[in-house]
Amino acid sequence: MKNGIKELLQDVKTHLEYQKIMGVTEMPKSSCHCEESARTTKQSHKSSCNKEIATPPSVARNDTKLKEIRAEIGDCKRCKLCKARKNIVFGVGDPNAALMFIGEGPGADEDEQGEPFVGRAGQLLTKIIIAMGLKREDVYIANCVKCRPPNNRAPEPDELDTCMPFLMKQIEAIKPKVIVCLGATAAKDILKTEVPISKLRGKFLDWNGYKLMPTFHPAFLLRNPNMKRPVWEDMQTVMKELGLKSRINPLAK
Ligand code: SF4
Repeated sequence: MKNGIKELLQDVKTHLEYQKIMGVTEMPKSSCHCEESARTTKQSHKSSCNKEIATPPSVARNDTKLKEIRAEIGDCKRCKLCKARKNIVFGVGDPNAALMFIGEGPGADEDEQGEPFVGRAGQLLTKIIIAMGLKREDVYIANCVKCRPPNNRAPEPDELDTCMPFLMKQIEAIKPKVIVCLGATAAKDILKTEVPISKLRGKFLDWNGYKLMPTFHPAFLLRNPNMKRPVWEDMQTVMKELGLKSRINPLAK
């Protein structure tokens, strides 16, 4: 029981620290006792306890910008990836996130569900996020291209040129403190470099004024579990930058 309370307090502390990093300086006065914070959207809060709290203006602003970008994309047919896709995978998470993960492109599960990183690799990414003391809803997750390349091939240059401006707009709307670039292809697409990911990872790069940490893709970790250690080291560097402390060492499992 004591351990349960200790863990709960640690969760609350981590959550509050993260809210502070994301610029939330006040918590709402409310008689409800749910764990929703000032950054919770009215809709999700109401679904849990039927009491309204105000959404901070910065969150509402970023949310509006993201909705405008999504509307601009529409039923996009700007590149050939539209032909076989089932769903446009726009991105998911906190519009005001301090931490953003960017992958290469949707796979089969993501195409099916319209959400990034929901397959096996996505589940591993979710575990990594939890090990960092966060929830999936605390971060923002997106890809370089928003439609699944056939047979999970890498996106081609013309597809990247057409789609990546939307990702850039998402990044500008969210303005994360740290971007984690997942995998060799995403690193190559974003950084426009041929330097291998094994050489790029492990340190922050300055990219358009953002702190960017390249690291291995979770799908690569599924095939090479021994590479979890360097990824966890990269995530610890990210956590240090964000002032986060973890309770879990995923390598212990
Ligand atoms: S990948 Fe991007 S540019 Fe191409 S069709 Fe999909 S949304 Fe449009």
